[in-house]
Amino acid sequence: MRTLLLKSLFAKPAAIDGPAPADAALEEVGRALEARVRRLYGRSLTIREVDAGSCNGCELEIHALNNPVYDVERFGVRFVASPRHADVLLVTGPLTKNMREGLLRTYNATPDPKWVVAVGDCGRDGGCFAGSPACVGGVSAVLPVDLHIPGCPPTPVALLGGLLALLETVSG
Ligand code: SF4
Repeated sequence: MRTLLLKSLFAKPAAIDGPAPADAALEEVGRALEARVRRLYGRSLTIREVDAGSCNGCELEIHALNNPVYDVERFGVRFVASPRHADVLLVTGPLTKNMREGLLRTYNATPDPKWVVAVGDCGRDGGCFAGSPACVGGVSAVLPVDLHIPGCPPTPVALLGGLLALLETVSG
Protein backbone atom coordinates (compact mmCIF):
# COMPACT_ATOMS: atom_id res chain seq x y z
CA MET A 1 0.00 0.00 0.00
CA ARG A 2 2.83 2.37 0.97
CA THR A 3 4.66 1.61 -2.27
CA LEU A 4 1.53 2.35 -4.23
CA LEU A 5 1.05 5.64 -2.40
CA LEU A 6 4.66 6.71 -3.02
CA LYS A 7 4.39 5.71 -6.66
CA SER A 8 1.29 7.80 -7.14
CA LEU A 9 2.95 10.79 -5.46
CA PHE A 10 5.87 10.79 -7.89
CA ALA A 11 4.10 9.59 -11.02
CA LYS A 12 3.53 12.03 -13.85
CA PRO A 13 0.03 13.51 -13.95
CA ALA A 14 -2.43 11.49 -15.99
CA ALA A 15 -3.38 14.57 -18.01
CA ILE A 16 -1.33 15.18 -21.11
CA ASP A 17 -0.97 18.24 -23.25
CA GLY A 18 -3.71 18.67 -25.80
CA PRO A 19 -2.87 18.59 -29.48
CA ALA A 20 -1.48 21.89 -30.68
CA PRO A 21 -3.84 23.40 -33.21
CA ALA A 22 -2.40 24.78 -36.39
CA ASP A 23 -2.02 28.20 -34.76
CA ALA A 24 -1.45 30.15 -37.95
CA ALA A 25 -4.39 28.53 -39.74
CA LEU A 26 -6.66 28.97 -36.73
CA GLU A 27 -5.82 32.64 -36.33
CA GLU A 28 -6.13 33.35 -40.04
CA VAL A 29 -9.50 31.66 -40.43
CA GLY A 30 -10.74 32.97 -37.08
CA ARG A 31 -9.86 36.60 -37.78
CA ALA A 32 -11.35 36.45 -41.29
CA LEU A 33 -14.51 34.96 -39.82
CA GLU A 34 -14.64 37.61 -37.11
CA ALA A 35 -14.41 40.40 -39.72
CA ARG A 36 -17.26 38.88 -41.78
CA VAL A 37 -19.42 38.34 -38.70
CA ARG A 38 -18.98 41.93 -37.57
CA ARG A 39 -19.71 43.33 -41.02
CA LEU A 40 -22.76 41.15 -41.57
CA TYR A 41 -24.34 41.07 -38.12
CA GLY A 42 -22.66 43.73 -36.00
CA ARG A 43 -22.78 41.14 -33.22
CA SER A 44 -21.92 37.48 -32.72
CA LEU A 45 -22.91 34.76 -35.14
CA THR A 46 -25.14 32.43 -33.15
CA ILE A 47 -25.23 28.70 -33.76
CA ARG A 48 -27.63 26.00 -32.61
CA GLU A 49 -26.07 22.58 -32.94
CA VAL A 50 -28.40 19.67 -33.70
CA ASP A 51 -27.31 16.06 -33.38
CA ALA A 52 -29.60 14.28 -35.82
CA GLY A 53 -28.14 10.83 -35.16
CA SER A 54 -24.37 11.25 -35.11
CA CYS A 55 -21.84 8.83 -33.58
CA ASN A 56 -20.71 11.90 -31.55
CA GLY A 57 -17.38 12.11 -33.35
CA CYS A 58 -18.51 15.33 -35.00
CA GLU A 59 -19.77 16.63 -31.64
CA LEU A 60 -16.34 16.15 -30.08
CA GLU A 61 -14.81 18.41 -32.72
CA ILE A 62 -17.63 20.95 -32.41
CA HIS A 63 -17.27 20.99 -28.62
CA ALA A 64 -13.55 21.58 -29.07
CA LEU A 65 -14.39 24.93 -30.67
CA ASN A 66 -15.40 26.16 -27.22
CA ASN A 67 -12.43 24.81 -25.29
CA PRO A 68 -9.55 27.06 -24.19
CA VAL A 69 -7.41 25.96 -27.15
CA TYR A 70 -9.80 27.15 -29.88
CA ASP A 71 -12.01 29.51 -27.85
CA VAL A 72 -14.15 30.64 -30.79
CA GLU A 73 -16.14 33.20 -28.83
CA ARG A 74 -13.14 35.48 -29.31
CA PHE A 75 -13.93 35.37 -33.05
CA GLY A 76 -17.59 36.29 -32.51
CA VAL A 77 -19.01 32.78 -32.82
CA ARG A 78 -21.39 31.74 -30.07
CA PHE A 79 -23.32 28.52 -29.49
CA VAL A 80 -26.85 29.03 -28.17
CA ALA A 81 -29.30 26.68 -26.47
CA SER A 82 -32.43 27.78 -28.32
CA PRO A 83 -33.06 27.77 -32.07
CA ARG A 84 -35.01 31.01 -31.52
CA HIS A 85 -31.69 32.73 -30.87
CA ALA A 86 -29.80 31.11 -33.75
CA ASP A 87 -28.59 32.34 -37.13
CA VAL A 88 -27.16 28.97 -38.15
CA LEU A 89 -28.24 25.38 -37.58
CA LEU A 90 -25.19 23.14 -37.48
CA VAL A 91 -26.50 19.63 -38.08
CA THR A 92 -24.48 16.45 -37.58
CA GLY A 93 -25.04 12.82 -38.29
CA PRO A 94 -27.04 10.78 -40.67
CA LEU A 95 -30.59 11.97 -40.20
CA THR A 96 -32.33 9.24 -38.25
CA LYS A 97 -36.05 8.61 -38.53
CA ASN A 98 -36.37 9.37 -34.82
CA MET A 99 -34.80 12.81 -35.25
CA ARG A 100 -36.61 13.84 -38.42
CA GLU A 101 -39.51 15.54 -36.63
CA GLY A 102 -37.23 17.14 -34.04
CA LEU A 103 -34.99 18.57 -36.74
CA LEU A 104 -37.96 19.97 -38.65
CA ARG A 105 -39.36 21.58 -35.51
CA THR A 106 -35.96 23.09 -34.71
CA TYR A 107 -35.75 24.48 -38.25
CA ASN A 108 -39.23 25.96 -38.04
CA ALA A 109 -38.42 27.55 -34.67
CA THR A 110 -35.35 29.31 -36.08
CA PRO A 111 -36.11 32.85 -37.26
CA ASP A 112 -35.34 33.96 -40.83
CA PRO A 113 -32.88 34.59 -42.27
CA LYS A 114 -31.33 31.27 -41.26
CA TRP A 115 -28.69 29.00 -42.68
CA VAL A 116 -28.35 25.25 -42.49
CA VAL A 117 -24.90 23.68 -42.39
CA ALA A 118 -24.61 19.91 -42.70
CA VAL A 119 -21.53 18.61 -40.89
CA GLY A 120 -19.47 15.55 -41.71
CA ASP A 121 -19.76 12.81 -44.28
CA CYS A 122 -22.91 11.55 -42.54
CA GLY A 123 -24.54 14.95 -42.84
CA ARG A 124 -23.99 14.86 -46.60
CA ASP A 125 -25.59 11.52 -47.46
CA GLY A 126 -25.69 9.33 -44.35
CA GLY A 127 -21.98 8.44 -44.67
CA CYS A 128 -21.16 5.03 -43.26
CA PHE A 129 -24.76 4.71 -42.02
CA ALA A 130 -26.30 5.24 -45.46
CA GLY A 131 -28.85 2.58 -46.27
CA SER A 132 -29.65 1.83 -42.63
CA PRO A 133 -33.37 1.33 -42.08
CA ALA A 134 -33.04 3.69 -39.10
CA CYS A 135 -31.88 6.58 -41.30
CA VAL A 136 -33.59 8.97 -43.64
CA GLY A 137 -30.30 9.92 -45.30
CA GLY A 138 -28.37 13.19 -45.34
CA VAL A 139 -29.64 16.43 -43.83
CA SER A 140 -30.76 17.62 -47.26
CA ALA A 141 -33.39 14.86 -47.25
CA VAL A 142 -35.58 17.18 -45.16
CA LEU A 143 -33.95 20.62 -44.98
CA PRO A 144 -32.52 23.05 -47.53
CA VAL A 145 -28.78 22.78 -46.85
CA ASP A 146 -26.74 25.93 -47.53
CA LEU A 147 -23.34 24.38 -46.94
CA HIS A 148 -21.77 21.01 -46.34
CA ILE A 149 -18.53 20.67 -44.34
CA PRO A 150 -16.89 17.35 -45.29
CA GLY A 151 -14.82 15.10 -43.04
CA CYS A 152 -15.26 12.22 -40.66
CA PRO A 153 -15.17 14.17 -38.51
CA PRO A 154 -14.14 17.62 -39.77
CA THR A 155 -11.50 19.31 -37.62
CA PRO A 156 -12.31 22.47 -35.63
CA VAL A 157 -10.34 24.58 -38.14
CA ALA A 158 -12.28 22.96 -41.01
CA LEU A 159 -15.52 23.82 -39.19
CA LEU A 160 -14.45 27.45 -38.87
CA GLY A 161 -13.39 27.45 -42.52
CA GLY A 162 -16.84 26.18 -43.45
CA LEU A 163 -18.56 28.94 -41.50
CA LEU A 164 -16.32 31.48 -43.20
CA ALA A 165 -17.24 30.06 -46.62
CA LEU A 166 -20.92 30.29 -45.69
CA LEU A 167 -20.67 33.96 -44.70
CA GLU A 168 -18.65 34.76 -47.82
CA THR A 169 -21.42 33.23 -49.94
CA VAL A 170 -24.14 34.99 -48.00
CA SER A 171 -22.54 38.42 -48.08
CA GLY A 172 -21.25 38.10 -51.66
S1 SF4 B 1 -19.15 11.99 -40.12
FE1 SF4 B 1 -17.90 10.48 -38.98
S2 SF4 B 1 -17.59 11.41 -36.98
FE2 SF4 B 1 -19.32 12.51 -37.92
S3 SF4 B 1 -21.15 11.45 -37.21
FE3 SF4 B 1 -20.55 10.48 -39.17
S4 SF4 B 1 -19.26 8.72 -38.56
FE4 SF4 B 1 -19.40 10.10 -36.79
